[in-house]
Amino acid sequence: MGKILYLVVPCYNEAAILVASWKKLEDKLKRLINQDMIHQSSKIVFVDDGSQDGSWKIIQDICLSSSYCFGVKLSTNRGQQIALLEGIRYSCKNADLVITVDCDLQDDIEVIDEMIQKYQQGNDIVYGVHSCRKKDSIFKRMGAYCFYKILPLLNINLHENHSEYRLMSRAVMEDIVRHGQNWLPIRCFVSTLSYPSAVVSYSRQARQSGKTKYSFWSLMSLAWNIIIGFSVKPVELILILGVILTLGGCLGGGLIGLGFLKIGAEYRSYTLLGCIFLATAGVVVFCLGVVGSYLTKILELVRKSPGSYEVDTTDKDSSRKVKLLNNIL
Ligand code: UDP
Ligand code: MG
Repeated sequence: MGKILYLVVPCYNEAAILVASWKKLEDKLKRLINQDMIHQSSKIVFVDDGSQDGSWKIIQDICLSSSYCFGVKLSTNRGQQIALLEGIRYSCKNADLVITVDCDLQDDIEVIDEMIQKYQQGNDIVYGVHSCRKKDSIFKRMGAYCFYKILPLLNINLHENHSEYRLMSRAVMEDIVRHGQNWLPIRCFVSTLSYPSAVVSYSRQARQSGKTKYSFWSLMSLAWNIIIGFSVKPVELILILGVILTLGGCLGGGLIGLGFLKIGAEYRSYTLLGCIFLATAGVVVFCLGVVGSYLTKILELVRKSPGSYEVDTTDKDSSRKVKLLNNIL
């Protein structure tokens, strides 16, 4: 008898595609159960991320007609990361392993078999990595290319072309629930864990219906959260910049003051003033870097803040509303 698998599916305004996705996912789940690869109490957890297009009603109807499905609803739209976190939180109660997959099924669900095989071989994390981005827009492809080139320079190790299609064992789920933070992209958090891991590759399809929920600015915000959440390099760069400016200003001012640099008398006082300004700016930038260094340490403590939102479920017994309050520090 296989292990209990939960497929966690975040949904934000996915009414156009939900039923089709449910049918494909349920069909896949049943096939896996029939092949004895997973336990018969495996489930699909749809997490409605505060949709306004009736997605939750569709999820409720799906859950009424199928014993394989379960619904979780966030009261407001909090973003894919929080939707995933809530899905994992619920899965953690019963599942042995979880696979997170987008509702639009751009990720090939046929590689789930391979993911489970790699899990059975002892891997706690199996990353779904798309081998080609041909179906993505040129803007997205170029952005992703540059982003993944910058990440190693910032000491961030992420699998190139891996998004949120991933298998995780119970141990990983528990770590995410215990230590994951709402604003930190789960893919980065997972990549910092030292569990055995493997990769399966597939080619990503175009969205069948509806449109992407990621605007240019939400992609920028995701990239920014990855950088400030997992790299102290920007603060180190500020410190280095401060030192360079201070040294440059002092050196320039000293050379001019001592007469080693020949500058016309009419420009001498201006250049000297410029050097003093440079050195002063350098000290200020350096001090900002020092403050930033302390902040990065405090950040690690404050990361626990989940914000406040309500969670509802399709399960009648646990349909009480859970209020997660800010627990900053
Ligand atoms: N999503 C979500 N909340 C959001 C934005 C997106 O739950 O605020 C879900 C969305 O419904 C989908 C997945 O996250 O299941 C990925 O979103 P999308 O397909 O728009 O991203 P893309 O594939 O274009 O990067
Ligand atoms: Mg998509």
